[in-house]
Amino acid sequence: MERKAIHDQIGQVRLHGPGPSDVPDSVLEALSSKTIGHLDPDFLRVMDQTQEMLREVLRTKNRMTIPISGTGSSGMETLVANLVEPGDRVAVVRNGVFGGRIADEVSRFGGQVVAINVEWGRTVEPEQVKEALSSGDCRALFLVHAETSTGALQPQMKEIGQLAHEHDALFLVDAVTSLGGTEVKVDEWGIDAAYSGTQKCLSVPPGLSPITLNERAMDKLRNRRTPVQSWYFDLTMIEEYWNEGGARKYHHTAPVNMIFALHEGLRLILEEGLDAVFERHRKNAAALQAGLESLGFTYIVEKAEERLPMLHAVFLPEGADEGKLRKQLRAECSLEIGGGLGDFAGKAWRIGLMGHSCREEKVEALLRDIRSVIVQEHGGPSA
Ligand SMILES: *Cc1c(COP(=O)(O)O)cnc(C)c1O
Repeated sequence: MERKAIHDQIGQVRLHGPGPSDVPDSVLEALSSKTIGHLDPDFLRVMDQTQEMLREVLRTKNRMTIPISGTGSSGMETLVANLVEPGDRVAVVRNGVFGGRIADEVSRFGGQVVAINVEWGRTVEPEQVKEALSSGDCRALFLVHAETSTGALQPQMKEIGQLAHEHDALFLVDAVTSLGGTEVKVDEWGIDAAYSGTQKCLSVPPGLSPITLNERAMDKLRNRRTPVQSWYFDLTMIEEYWNEGGARKYHHTAPVNMIFALHEGLRLILEEGLDAVFERHRKNAAALQAGLESLGFTYIVEKAEERLPMLHAVFLPEGADEGKLRKQLRAECSLEIGGGLGDFAGKAWRIGLMGHSCREEKVEALLRDIRSVIVQEHGGPSA
């Protein structure tokens, strides 16, 4: 088989799936900078700035705010490995694929999952959380802020955080899809630890998982009865490399160029301003929703105020063949969108407007392409 260089194999696909999202040119340039050492003074400065920007985007003062080497799931695994001890009871809200993945992680690390099962497409009620926590002695509550498999945004974050604290449980949050696309207020909401990913609304290639832990979470880590069950994700060691004033002690070689890319991605978001970024997501989401509904798509999430601005999970119009149309969009329009996951496989699309993919002209082009394949197949509502 002939092996061509990557440059000659990869086309200009527009990314409107559930991640990765389109990456701005300046982020790609940062990624292709000269590689330097992970202990080089220039790199240490970039690390400090990256942490500072992560704190701003996460709205936190937590000293322990760093990118974990690995995709979003590595942040999930880091929190579980460090904050769950064998035998700990951990409440996990399961209202989609990612809540299910967290429950799997918790049980693999020896935790006892107290599942709070919620119908897919819905969010959890504080009352249900209270009931689960009152049933006894949970060390932590895990919640997905933006469930990418169903398109649901969890409201009442602050109230749920308070409930966790009243029951002496850590409030642990998956902010993989929400960060950089809608408000995530770590300190104000009482979140004890959270993780995210780079390839969703931060519009950086996949490969890093920003995490943050407050002192309450760090106390739990420092007072463990057992060592952290993962060497690679052991924050007591990783801390000695990352934290300013620490020994900068080698643990594993930092993915230097990915951190350059994250630095540039965060810099762009803060330059635009968080509020402006969120407003751009809201506006474009409204335009996409109007366009999709006019074509006969319906939203999995019934409550309009609980729909994600950055991910539109929709059922196709009656009789449309989702797999065929999705392949056609990729082949004829160089457009990537996502299929349904789990319960919604074969029935739904997941259309992303994440970060740099969330621009007015991109939404217009996206709707034009979707309309053209739907109309071709059905002769449905024409433009
Ligand atoms: C994408 C995603 C993850 C997993 O991230 P990977 O980068 O695929 O490992 C976890 N949680 C949510 C809510 C996600 O959307």
